[in-house]
Amino acid sequence: MNQRQLPAAFEANVREMLGAEADAFLQSYKERRTQGLRLNTLKSGYGRVPASQAVARFGLESVPWCPSGYYYEEPHRPGRHPYHAAGLYYIQEPSAMSAAELLAPQPGETVLDLAAAPGGKTSHLAALMQGRGLLVSNEIHPERAKILAENVERMGIAHALVTCATPGELSRRFPEAFDRIMLDAPCSGEGMFRKDPDAIAEWSPEHVEMCAARQWDILQDAYKMLKPGGHLAYSTCTFNRQENEETIARLLEAYPDMELLADKRLWPHLEKGEGHFVALLRKAAREDELADVRPGKPTKAARGKSSGKTNAAAEAYRQFLDFAAAELPGFTPQGVPVLFGDALYLLPEAFQSGLSPSVLEGLKVPRAGLQLAQLKKNRVEPAHALAMALQPEQAKRSFDLNAEETDIHAWLRGESLPVPSGLHGWTLVTVDGLPVGWGKASQGQLKNHLPKGLRVLGGQ
Ligand code: SAM
Repeated sequence: MNQRQLPAAFEANVREMLGAEADAFLQSYKERRTQGLRLNTLKSGYGRVPASQAVARFGLESVPWCPSGYYYEEPHRPGRHPYHAAGLYYIQEPSAMSAAELLAPQPGETVLDLAAAPGGKTSHLAALMQGRGLLVSNEIHPERAKILAENVERMGIAHALVTCATPGELSRRFPEAFDRIMLDAPCSGEGMFRKDPDAIAEWSPEHVEMCAARQWDILQDAYKMLKPGGHLAYSTCTFNRQENEETIARLLEAYPDMELLADKRLWPHLEKGEGHFVALLRKAAREDELADVRPGKPTKAARGKSSGKTNAAAEAYRQFLDFAAAELPGFTPQGVPVLFGDALYLLPEAFQSGLSPSVLEGLKVPRAGLQLAQLKKNRVEPAHALAMALQPEQAKRSFDLNAEETDIHAWLRGESLPVPSGLHGWTLVTVDGLPVGWGKASQGQLKNHLPKGLRVLGGQ
């Protein structure tokens, strides 16, 4: 690493915490950072090449605390491989993979990722949920929320809403709504020093104090949104007690119905990774909750109000279903259609029973579930997000490219490709069987419909 001087107050803190082990810990900052990727189990089942074989090229070694996680070493650059564009894996720091594993969300649950960008933990949670239930992925900063939405799409996650709200705005709309909440809190980043030496310059005792105060604010909103009987995971990539154990102790003191089930600290001198803290807590169930665990009746809004807006959505959805009947024989949409401007989305199934779409009114929602289509004059065009969430056999026409050949790189740069002249119409483009987007075939050419913002400029 860039040998920047560690702050004296940080070093003193570490010596106080670790005693005789402090030297080994401080020495770890002189070693190379670790790098990892996590296989996207939402997609790993349907490529032409088995996923484990597809990624073995990166010389992988398993991450002990995450069955889908692997270390890789330079000079491998998995982030530049077409399988990355296809969402076969997510580049994630290995210690950070511990948090979603500890929270262990289940398929069908209602889960919130409260500080979610750029999306490492969200994509991990989505995979553990096997794409079923509802995942609300929230990010307070609009630019980061956009990156989060792109990653959610790339990973083919259909059951996530991406919201851009303060924790307070969310807790007013979603009181006691979630079975599990992940709070990967903004922190002073002591575990980032090796990866990003600039983080050292930002560190100060005052910054740690400010982070702890902000974490406390966010945690109180997380508490409000947790169902009785629900689980909360709190994580940081920092080591000091103030932002970790002391913040948790404060929560336990303020809310006696919260119980600490486990906490885990990964130290970089003991485990291979940059380090992480994660605590798992549970909110006590209430008597009345134990008696009645049936889902609520669909609300009027969830069944569909007959307003102009829902009529327009219903009409757009009808057009999409016509398109799907002709072009997507294996695809059965499940959820509630909604229109945001010209974009037709499918809210996850949870909105058919219990949750009302009106809960989203006035909220910034960069991605309201799965985008199905973009409305054009008198027709619909299938959305890029839909391509990324499909299994290849769900499209009537597909055109496969080989990861080892140059055409896939041309495609990812946004170029059109020659195709057999018999191919005509919307075509799912795949790399070794994994969808990467839509093309429209006509007269021997496959027109590229990759969104402009995703095209790899000056790629290979
Ligand atoms: N969970 C993410 C992942 O795995 O990719 C990383 C999250 S990062 C540690 C913390 C996030 O909290 C940042 O994206 C940051 O923008 C956001 N954040 C900053 N201030 C916040 C606040 N006051 N409330 C909620 N989130 C905040």
